[in-house]
Amino acid sequence: MYQLAVGQLDEAARQMGLQENIWHRLRTPQRACMVSIPFREDDYNTVQTVFGYRVQHLTTMGPGKGGLRYAPNVDLGEVTALAMWMTWKCAVMKLPFSGAKGGLRIDPTKLSPGELQRLTRRFTAEIIDVIGPDRDIMAPDLGTDEQVMAWIMDTYSAQKGYPVPGIVTGKPLEIGGSLGRKEATGRGVITCMLEACRETQRDVTRQSVAIQGYGNVGSVSARLAARAGAKVVAVSDAHTGIFNPNGLSIPDVERWVSEHRWLDGYPEADTVTNEELLELPVDILIPAAVENQLRADNAGSVKARLVVEGANGPTTMEADVIFASNGVMVVPDILANAGGVTASYFEWLQSRQQYLWSEDQVNDQLVRLMKEAYVAVSALARDRNVSLRMAALFLGIGRVAEAKRRRGMFP
Ligand code: GLU
Repeated sequence: MYQLAVGQLDEAARQMGLQENIWHRLRTPQRACMVSIPFREDDYNTVQTVFGYRVQHLTTMGPGKGGLRYAPNVDLGEVTALAMWMTWKCAVMKLPFSGAKGGLRIDPTKLSPGELQRLTRRFTAEIIDVIGPDRDIMAPDLGTDEQVMAWIMDTYSAQKGYPVPGIVTGKPLEIGGSLGRKEATGRGVITCMLEACRETQRDVTRQSVAIQGYGNVGSVSARLAARAGAKVVAVSDAHTGIFNPNGLSIPDVERWVSEHRWLDGYPEADTVTNEELLELPVDILIPAAVENQLRADNAGSVKARLVVEGANGPTTMEADVIFASNGVMVVPDILANAGGVTASYFEWLQSRQQYLWSEDQVNDQLVRLMKEAYVAVSALARDRNVSLRMAALFLGIGRVAEAKRRRGMFP
């Protein structure tokens, strides 16, 4: 993943003629905090050593901002790549943040709530010096949710001696979370999908959509795509995918998942694998699961003409080349999934000002900023005759480079 993030930076820097001093500065993170923590399982006698990371790609643009993921294969390279993408994402959206990301190398599905809580609190205590509402603000990502954010907020606040809601975003409403934050990434994805349809004169009510991933991003994307009139024909989770060429009833699928947790066994559809889902005969594909899904070996088999990236890093550079030559339009992750961090920005503002926005306020501002960013990226892509990914990178990297130049260097 680090190779992919740096490869994209190198390619963009080369094409935009970025000054070499700044280019090299951007290739490695400014700060990386690595910890190993003891974690006591529910079986009192078993103590595991767990590895944790928090990477701040920059400190130039404002406090660090980005998610925290719990997954069994998390490593420093992955977290660094994700931190770098957060930098470009925030710059594309003009948010006053520098990119950051964190991770714990553990499978959260194997932990009890008590175990998850102990692990989260110890990790927070271990990295307490590098985080803060003015320093680095975490949010949910793969394998973490609003409950994890609540424990981080509580641990941090207990250390300070007063409540510090601005330490995390994506927290529960009861402790200062924002209306609309949970749905924001999916809302941003679908806003981009609709903008891309408008721009290419596709009638959204005639588009079929396949969505890989049925977590927070995928499920909200499915709901909002269906509400916009598109025909959602396939969705998948970590275990299985479901496909109905006549369209899935998303309310039914939601009910099924709320009762059974997984999609497996859903009656009104055929079963497909996650790999097969990517190659289904659909108009629009939304990868909203994990990285490295669209590669040299399968990109040529993708039938969709529009790909909107809900996940971070789902497409390799080789797949991008194949998509370009096949005329497949890709709305890149650093634009398409930026709705989450944009609503996180709104939440952080609300936490700091102790002033709550209405849900309409959040959604209206979110959609407005997403549309503005889409239009800016798309105009630059046309102007420079490059892909939307290159244009988004030009915009993000260019803004960061300009900020670095303005701030100068110490000493
Ligand atoms: N984890 C999300 C992302 O990758 C959200 C980050 C945030 O809200 O800070 O964009």
